Parts: sequence; C-alpha cells; structure tokens
Amino acid sequence: MDFQPLLEVPKQSTGEPLWFIFQGSQLLVTQSEGPVKLPDDAVLAQLATGIVRRHVIGQLKGSICHGLEVDSHALPPAGYTFSGLRSLFGRADEVLLALAGRALQIIDWDRTHLYCGRCGTPTELRTHERARFCPACQLVVYPRIAPVVMGLIMRGDELLLARSPHFAPGVYSAIAGYCEPGESLEMALMREIREEVGLEVRDIQYFKSQSWPFPHSLMVAFTCQYHSGLISPQPGEIEDARWFSSEALPLLPHPVSIARQLIEATLLLMKSRHHALH
Ligand SMILES: [Zn+2]
Repeated sequence: MDFQPLLEVPKQSTGEPLWFIFQGSQLLVTQSEGPVKLPDDAVLAQLATGIVRRHVIGQLKGSICHGLEVDSHALPPAGYTFSGLRSLFGRADEVLLALAGRALQIIDWDRTHLYCGRCGTPTELRTHERARFCPACQLVVYPRIAPVVMGLIMRGDELLLARSPHFAPGVYSAIAGYCEPGESLEMALMREIREEVGLEVRDIQYFKSQSWPFPHSLMVAFTCQYHSGLISPQPGEIEDARWFSSEALPLLPHPVSIARQLIEATLLLMKSRHHALH
C-alpha cells in the first residue's frame, strides 16, 4: 500500500481527499448494493455542523485521508448510510477498509483519552507526534495497540480448529487470545493453547500479522505442531474443539480475516508436503 502516515495536510497535496466519517464506530458510505464508496466534498459539507473530531490520517498516492467523527444526532445524507466495518467486508475495497480501520482506531483513541488517566486534567493533542499530552503532569498517551496471538496447530494432516460461543453458527477457527503483560508472543501463544484446549505445542513459526480495529488489536498469526495432551475445551471460552482433516473442514472465518488466510496457507503447505512424500 502506497501510504504515508501524516499528522497534518502537507502544502502540496494533489489528489482528491478521502473522507472517513464515523458516527460511533460506523463509517459513512454509499447505500448501494454493489461496491461501496466514500462520501465526496459536497456530502461532507452537509454534515459540517455535526463534526466533533477531525484527524489527518495520512496520504494515499497523493490523496489526503481524513478521519472525522460526527455527533450521534447527525443523519446520513440521502444515498448514504453509517455501516459497521465488519459489514463492509467483501463490499469495500481492501485498501479502503484498511484505512478506515486505521482512521477508526485514531478517532477512538482520541475520544477515549480526553482526560489524563493519572491526574484527571484535560489532555491536549500533540502536533509533532500522534499523542495526547497532560499539561499538568506531563503524561503522554499514544494510541493503544493490543497484540493478539493466533495459533493453528498441525498434527500430521490434521488441523485443530475451535469454536467460541460468539462465532457465527458452524464456524471454527484457530486458537487466539490477548498477550498479557510480561509475555513474549510465543509464551502468550503456548498459554492460550494450554488454557483454551489443554494442549502443548512446539515448533512455533511466524506466519503474518494484521491490524484488526475491533477495537485496536494487532493479530499475530503462527503455525505450530502438536506436542502432547488431549483436547479439553475451556468452559465459557471454547464451545467445541476438534482435529479436522483437510478433506472434511467445517465453515471457516471470512476470507478477509488473517485466521482464514492462516488456515488456507497451512492447507496448501500440508498438501505440498503430502505430494512430496508420495
Ligand atoms: Zn496528568
């Protein structure tokens, strides 16, 4: 992605601006059946009186990306609607969705750090870095990013997939959970797998990472090999967990998610290993 983060509009910006306008965590987009679009300058002008927050996010190929928030009373202009980002998966361009996620995280961080967490004084926005600052006690608050580890466990030609009670019906995925203070990503992964399904793993290999703005996670995905233990789902967290062969997979998460990419890439890898052996 040809994107450069910025804090203010540079003197020379050539392209059409991109307006990411949020109400709560919902983005203003065209109300169309096909691919959705962002509002243009004329639509923005209609909402001008309701704008409560604005940030320059950065520059995409010469277009300045703006993140704005309108108050809860603002009505969407004709032909537009406020939509949750998840509902735009598959209906919006991936670059646009990634930038929307970035804008939402900055807006959400800004509105939740208006007061100093240490002394309660109203904070101020810094101009030379993305931070809020307490003029009384000098505390500096940066946007929060919470690492989430995700592990796909392999055993021969089987994969361990599990269901959380809040997944869509029938969907299974890899094990995932938040990293705790003091942990490395590998330690967090081994702990989550132990807690959620009672297994021990080895050979942890990094796959890739993905920003996940619900609300400010960084998903870090790994593959690993089964080492020992019997599946024992954690009550309340895991509804069901099983070994699945590549021929009989359950429903999988949305293709946009890193979980799906991790599962697909691992299946391909297992298939190529299988061919190499036979
Ligand atoms: Zn303070």
